[in-house]
Amino acid sequence: MRTNKTSKNRTNVNISYWETDRYLGVQDLVVIGSGIVGLFTALNYKKQNPKAKVTVLERGVLPFGASTKNAGFACFGSLTELMQDLKTIPDKQVWETVSMRSKGLELLRKTLGDKAIDYKPWGGYELFDDANELERCMDKIPVYE
Ligand SMILES: Cc1cc2nc3c(=O)[nH]c(=O)nc-3n(C[C@H](O)[C@H](O)[C@H](O)COP(=O)(O)OP(=O)(O)OC[C@H]3O[C@@H](n4cnc5c(N)ncnc54)[C@H](O)[C@@H]3O)c2cc1C
Repeated sequence: MRTNKTSKNRTNVNISYWETDRYLGVQDLVVIGSGIVGLFTALNYKKQNPKAKVTVLERGVLPFGASTKNAGFACFGSLTELMQDLKTIPDKQVWETVSMRSKGLELLRKTLGDKAIDYKPWGGYELFDDANELERCMDKIPVYE
């Protein structure tokens, strides 16, 4: 992204030298969106290219997406969710996704630290109101282990 260093833009707003240089100057990477994916993209790129100029743009005053609205569970899919996925998505793809989620979680913990994210390895629980569904799920546990 290249801009000339004039002090007025098309909306006639004054932009300082520093704003022009830091926000609008030549960037190596511009990430749109400051959710978990955008921030990790920026972070990893910067780790690999320490001298790179990286800017993260966010449409909101605060991040406006799922990353600051979610339930906060460190999960890679519950049994019923995975069984549901297996009905419509090829098995290989489902297990590859589970593996990526698990590796992503490890990376998140390693990068931020368990204390900072208040990580608690409490396992997962599911509530069933249908005994048959519970039995079908229990039967599948040894298959998925
Ligand atoms: C209600 C809910 C509960 C969830 N619970 C869990 C859970 O317990 N555990 C779990 O692992 N996952 C959970 N998820 C899923 C998880 O939150 C998302 O998968 C994850 O946050 C997605 O991150 P992201 O960075 O891709 O997207 P987002 O966090 O949505 O980030 C996208 C960002 O881009 C910005 N943006 C969009 N368009 C523009 C634009 N044009 N210009 C500038 N900025 C822009 C948005 O404002 C936003 O800040 C939950 C999701 C929801 C909605």
